[in-house]
Amino acid sequence: MTHAPAFRTTHFINGQWSPESDNTFDDCNPLTGEVIASIAAGGRAEGDAAVAAAHAAFPAWAAMTPGERQSLFLKAADITERRHDDAVHLMAVEAGTARAFASFQVRLSANLMRQAASWGYLPYGDLLKSDTPGRMAMVARKPLGVVAGFTPWNGAFYLGWRTFVLPMAFGNTVVIKPSEEAPLSAGLLHAEILEEAGFPAGSFNVVTHAPRQAEPIADAFFESRAVRSINFTGSDKTARILGARAGQTLKRMVLELGGFNPMIILADADLDEAAKAVNFGAFFHQGQICMNTRKVYVAREIHDAFLDRLAARTNSLKAGDPLEAGVVIGPLINDRAVAQTKERLAEALSKGARLVTGGSCDGRVFQPTILANVPQDVLATQGCDETFGPLLVVEAFDDPEQALADAQDTPYGLSAAIMTGNAARGLDMAQRFDTGIVHVNGATMAGEASLPNGGVKDSGWGRSGHYAVEDFTEIRLTTVTSKPGHYPF
Ligand code: NAD
Repeated sequence: MTHAPAFRTTHFINGQWSPESDNTFDDCNPLTGEVIASIAAGGRAEGDAAVAAAHAAFPAWAAMTPGERQSLFLKAADITERRHDDAVHLMAVEAGTARAFASFQVRLSANLMRQAASWGYLPYGDLLKSDTPGRMAMVARKPLGVVAGFTPWNGAFYLGWRTFVLPMAFGNTVVIKPSEEAPLSAGLLHAEILEEAGFPAGSFNVVTHAPRQAEPIADAFFESRAVRSINFTGSDKTARILGARAGQTLKRMVLELGGFNPMIILADADLDEAAKAVNFGAFFHQGQICMNTRKVYVAREIHDAFLDRLAARTNSLKAGDPLEAGVVIGPLINDRAVAQTKERLAEALSKGARLVTGGSCDGRVFQPTILANVPQDVLATQGCDETFGPLLVVEAFDDPEQALADAQDTPYGLSAAIMTGNAARGLDMAQRFDTGIVHVNGATMAGEASLPNGGVKDSGWGRSGHYAVEDFTEIRLTTVTSKPGHYPF
């Protein structure tokens, strides 16, 4: 690797880095193919050991005072900021992340930890009236136990933190299995930071595995009674496999999945603002974010003018090596992603779609691509399967109500957006979107640590921010009765 420092590459279990072994796999730079690290290839034994460590650490972690946990999260936030340059470099060489997005992830991560540091002080229950004379009923939230997390490679660093911090802030201990595409920036760097901050041994654990060898570790998670919830961020395809296992083993799940994320641009919208929002929303991280805009519905009378402005912006995006200054479009993560984007583009063009801009690919660097006049039988426009790359479809509409109906004709329900000069009208349409997130006059793609991210329908369930208390705690009813009891017999 071109950059000091060397990152830790072995499992982190019960406060210890496991010894180096020959059982490793190559972690490669998606742009150059260069091997950046040899990562431990774990399996069932490591998964079991990590779950056992988290289980043993749970009672003490759950019993810590809010102030004790708060000081640990605040330390971790400071260390994360101190390691900004390491993290940004790592995300570039491991996940093809351009500097602006990587730097944003570091700031967002520190912000998340500072917010989560106070969640231990949130009210954690209710007093309820009882129909039994002299009875007081208390409902109190308590942590679940061990939460097992699957982290993705795309927003690797921030989504890694989201997977650790939300359950831990509410008193759970965690075991993380990072994506094999980014094991360092989606889990192991986090372990370095939490270790330095002084989090207790076993409260967080990370186990890594070779490509397509996730199942043995997943088995360890699903088959352990200590694991009370699976916190999964990834594709709906994998979620269906894991969901079937959760059905068999009766595990709770949080699912943060993909989206199709339409944008509707009404005739009264500010065209420059709309072009800015679409250019960012569609091509941020080269279209590899769950909330990227995949399809834009634009009022016919402004369609051509909007497309001209959008294409001008998109043409100015610099693509290439994410370490190079000014580059905002890095490589796609792997050859499968390149092939999927190429196939979807080729299908659209072969059926008569018009290429507005882009379309070429150099190695894994795919130029941001805009298609217009796309026939309805083309996969890229149908919304039944997200295209995880920089491919945007723009379609003209005559009737805004029909556009709203068409935009929702998708199994996904993550994010949506409406651009309009009339905020009240935008709000009215927004209320009728069946998505977890909807923005009026903003891109579909947005991230703030305090706001609840999450989807409906095939985009999953569960929410981030402090709303995650619903996902990572359960309630217990306790009653105290101060008068003699009256029983039916
Ligand atoms: P993926 O589903 O391929 O992999 C996710 C995780 O599941 C990885 O850790 C992987 O190792 C593991 N996995 C894969 N197959 C498995 C199996 N058979 N058994 C056990 N584990 C298995 O997804 P990805 O390519 O890493 O991430 C991209 C996807 O994630 C996209 O669909 C994107 O929209 C979604 N995503 C959603 C959010 C959100 O917050 N809603 C955020 C980021 C990414």
